[in-house]
Amino acid sequence: MDEIINYFSTIPSSHRALILAGGIAFFWLIETAVPFFKFSYDKWQHAGINIFFTVTTIIVNFCLAIILLKAADWATENHFGFLNWLPEFNIWIYTIIGLLLLDLIGAYLIHLIEHKVKFLWRFHLIHHTDTWIDTTSANRHHPGESVLRFIFTTLGVLIVGCPMWMVFLYQTLSVVATQFNHANITLPKKLDRILSYFIVSPDMHKVHHHYVLPYTDSNYGNIFSVWDRLFGTFKTLDREKLVYGVDTHMKPEENNKLSNLLMIPFQKRRSPNS
Ligand SMILES: [Zn+2]
Ligand SMILES: [Zn+2]
Repeated sequence: MDEIINYFSTIPSSHRALILAGGIAFFWLIETAVPFFKFSYDKWQHAGINIFFTVTTIIVNFCLAIILLKAADWATENHFGFLNWLPEFNIWIYTIIGLLLLDLIGAYLIHLIEHKVKFLWRFHLIHHTDTWIDTTSANRHHPGESVLRFIFTTLGVLIVGCPMWMVFLYQTLSVVATQFNHANITLPKKLDRILSYFIVSPDMHKVHHHYVLPYTDSNYGNIFSVWDRLFGTFKTLDREKLVYGVDTHMKPEENNKLSNLLMIPFQKRRSPNS
């Protein structure tokens, strides 16, 4: 465990970039070899849009990283936050509790709020407009949403009292987990179901990308599935019935054009059809 802590305390940016790019390449190869949906799409054009949003997400997080670093250091130095108020115990249990709570506040909670607050939905909507979910969809976030998510991650770090190595560990796991659950692949149904008791499985997250309510408003989890099961937001839908996208933005000229995607938050609001 000490080695893990040491590594993530000083993880070089180049390693983080390599994990992100390596993950996309890995799942890209698998989904090309054995795709779940046989989309008739221009995979590179689609990837171009999603990689643009991945890069803006990286830029936002890079520019604001110092705030996150200061928050984590401040919590550690001042013994602030849930983890610092717990009695000393096994480092593995301490790490699992920290990752679970960070997942709750920095990911599940903000995701749920983005779906419920109309102004924030305008930004998160871009993630849902994708009608060809594949591994590149994982970081299709409008820059406005990236800022919002950053604020909640920082809030999570303060409330949980996370040391920085744990934040880096969480973010690394999150990158790979989301690339995995967005990839255009399927696992045997039984395996997917068993997995969904612990982490957000591909079938579980894809229900969240079904184009109509109430499915869009379900399965908000990022890495761990426990929060959806605990708070009653867990839903299932046969994978054969899945239709990706969001009912208000099903036209390709709207959901597959970068300039329009960037402008969606500032356009007239549309109500869902159901
Ligand atoms: Zn969502
Ligand atoms: Zn998604």
